[in-house]
Amino acid sequence: MTHFHFSLRHHDAGTAARRGEFSTPHGTVQTPGFMPVGTQGTVKGVTIDQVAASGAEMILGNTYHLALRPGHQTVRRLGGLHGMTGWKGPILTDSGGFQVFSLEAIREINEEAATFRSHIDGAIIRLTPEHSIEIQESLGSDVAMVLDHVVALPAERHEVIDAMERSIRWARRCLDAATREDQARFAIVQGGLDVELRQQCASELSSMDFEGFAIGGLSVGEPPPEMYRITEATCPYLPAEKPRYLMGVGTPVDLLESVARGVDLFDCVMPTRNGRNAMAFTDQGKIKIRNAVHREDIRPLEASCPCLACRHSRGYLRHLFVAKEMLGPILLSIHNLTYYQRLMAGVREAIEQDLLGEFIASKKAGWASSPSSS
Ligand SMILES: [Zn+2]
Repeated sequence: MTHFHFSLRHHDAGTAARRGEFSTPHGTVQTPGFMPVGTQGTVKGVTIDQVAASGAEMILGNTYHLALRPGHQTVRRLGGLHGMTGWKGPILTDSGGFQVFSLEAIREINEEAATFRSHIDGAIIRLTPEHSIEIQESLGSDVAMVLDHVVALPAERHEVIDAMERSIRWARRCLDAATREDQARFAIVQGGLDVELRQQCASELSSMDFEGFAIGGLSVGEPPPEMYRITEATCPYLPAEKPRYLMGVGTPVDLLESVARGVDLFDCVMPTRNGRNAMAFTDQGKIKIRNAVHREDIRPLEASCPCLACRHSRGYLRHLFVAKEMLGPILLSIHNLTYYQRLMAGVREAIEQDLLGEFIASKKAGWASSPSSS
C-alpha cells in the first residue's frame, strides 16, 4: 500500500501525545487533527471554501445518510464525494453502524447483517460489512471505516462481549471485501467501559492489515473521566506506527485530554451544531451570543481570531440571531470551526516543543475564567 503513509515526527516529552502526518491520495493531514463533520455531503451551513479557510484538512461524510439520500450510486455518478462536493482534500466516511444503532432504527442484528428501517421512507434495509464497504467504495472516500456493532451503554457484560467479538469478525469481513487500493480501512475498537475487553479487542484488530485504528462507542453519555480512562488504556495496545482516531469526540477539553493519551484524529458535530445554536467557543470559555449583555458590545468574539465572524461585533452577531437571520448560524459555525482548528494547531506546536502539559493547563485556565457574558 503506497497511497497511505503515517509518519511520526515527534513525541511529547511529558505526555503520550504524538505529532504526525497522515498522507492520503487527496493530500496530507497534520496530526493531531480535527475533522469537521459533513453528514449529508456538506458541513452544515458553510461552503467548502469556508471549511478550508478554517484550517481543516480532512472532513467526514456519513455513509448511512448518503446511502439513503441521494444514494451511493448517485453519489458515484456525480463523481464520488469529492466530485459531488468539490472538496479537494482527504475525506473519511463512517460505516453507517453508529447511525443505524444510535437512531434506534435497528430492527434486527445477527451475524450476517444489521437490519434497520430508513428514517426517510421507512424502507427496510440490510447492512452487512460487505455492503458498508461497497457503499464507501462508491462514495470514494480516502478512509473507510469498518462496520461495527455498537451497544448502548450501560449494557450487560455479555452484551458488550458479544458486540465486541462480532465487531472483530465484521472487521475481518470488511477487509476481505475491500477492492480499492486508493482507499484506506480503519478498524474500530469496541468493548464498552471494560478495559480488559478494550485491550483484547485492540490486540486482535492490530494483528490485521488496517491502515489505522479507531476507538468507537465512546462519547455516548458516559462521564468524561471514563472516556479518558478507556482511551488511556486502549492506545498502548494499538500499533504505534498507525494513526489513532477517537470517534465522535468532542469538546475542546476532550480533545486536549485525548491527545495527551495518544490520539491523533477526531471528529465531532459540536463546532457547527453549537454555532447554529448561538454558542461560540473562545479561549475565555463559551459565549452565548443571544444574551442581552452582548447587545451593544463592539468587541469581536475573539480579537485574535482571523475568521469571517470576528470581523464583526458581538452586538451585530447577537442581532443576527435575535432577528433570525441565517447569517448568524453561518458566522458562528465558521468561528467555531476556526476555533477548533486553531486549537489543534496550538496542540501540534506545543507537542513539537514538548510543552503539551503547559499548553493544556493554560487553555483550561482560560476556559475556567468563564466570561460574565456566558
Ligand atoms: Zn472567529
